[in-house]
Amino acid sequence: MLPTLQERVSETTRETLEEMGVAVRVSTTVTRVQPEWVEVEGGASIPADITIWAAGIRAPSVLASLDGLAVNHINQVKVTSSLQSESDSNVYALGDCASCAMTGEAPVPPRAQAAHQQAMFLFKALCARIDGRPIGAFTYKDHGSLVSLGSPTAVGSIAGITSTGKFFVEGFVAKLMYAALYRKHLVAVSGLRRAVFTIAAHGLGRLLTPRVKLH
Ligand SMILES: Cc1cc2nc3c(=O)[nH]c(=O)nc-3n(C[C@H](O)[C@H](O)[C@H](O)COP(=O)(O)OP(=O)(O)OC[C@H]3O[C@@H](n4cnc5c(N)ncnc54)[C@H](O)[C@@H]3O)c2cc1C
Repeated sequence: MLPTLQERVSETTRETLEEMGVAVRVSTTVTRVQPEWVEVEGGASIPADITIWAAGIRAPSVLASLDGLAVNHINQVKVTSSLQSESDSNVYALGDCASCAMTGEAPVPPRAQAAHQQAMFLFKALCARIDGRPIGAFTYKDHGSLVSLGSPTAVGSIAGITSTGKFFVEGFVAKLMYAALYRKHLVAVSGLRRAVFTIAAHGLGRLLTPRVKLH
């Protein structure tokens, strides 16, 4: 599970989920979903009242029909290291809809920090292009990951603090970091004033509304 994250993060996530009473089955391919059960490879079936499917990502199919732009098997536009389409250098793509191969490494992962870094790169690249300067190449820096596992806990790894480049956080500290990161994101997206009101409204809502929906 969580194959793109550090092994320790994925192992702790599994342990935490199991402590919460969740049965985790890895390397188990679902072959059929029925109203009352889910069938897995080998024919075994798991009883299920409610089934939630959350496997994998795929970019919108419209990308595969954009005037012949090269896309990969999950419809992401294939781009060079300068985020230009491999088929047309006048078309740029970034974030989840782009597949950007890094030299000798796995493609840039479909994550918020990657999309953010690519947006910052592209802003400078487009200014450079307008000015007739060279664009340069995008490099992805993994600053670590935090995984929220419900209200009491989270786990994660953060880059750049220890000599090994990453340190591991879990429980309340990770949860605090996750909450701080979310608020930082709110400020970036909505501006400081709106973010303060949103956070205050959310806090008040939590104080005033019941934890269980009553009607
Ligand atoms: C449940 C979930 C949890 C996640 N948690 C994390 C996490 O903890 N950390 C992390 O780093 N990443 C996380 N991600 C991944 C992260 O959300 C994405 O990598 C990031 O949002 C990608 O940014 P983006 O701008 O490329 O795409 P998006 O944020 O998806 O923005 C694309 C926008 O395009 C719009 N759009 C789509 N099709 C069209 C169309 N045809 N016309 C016009 N507009 C269109 C969409 O409505 C959307 O607003 C998570 C993703 C999911 C689904």
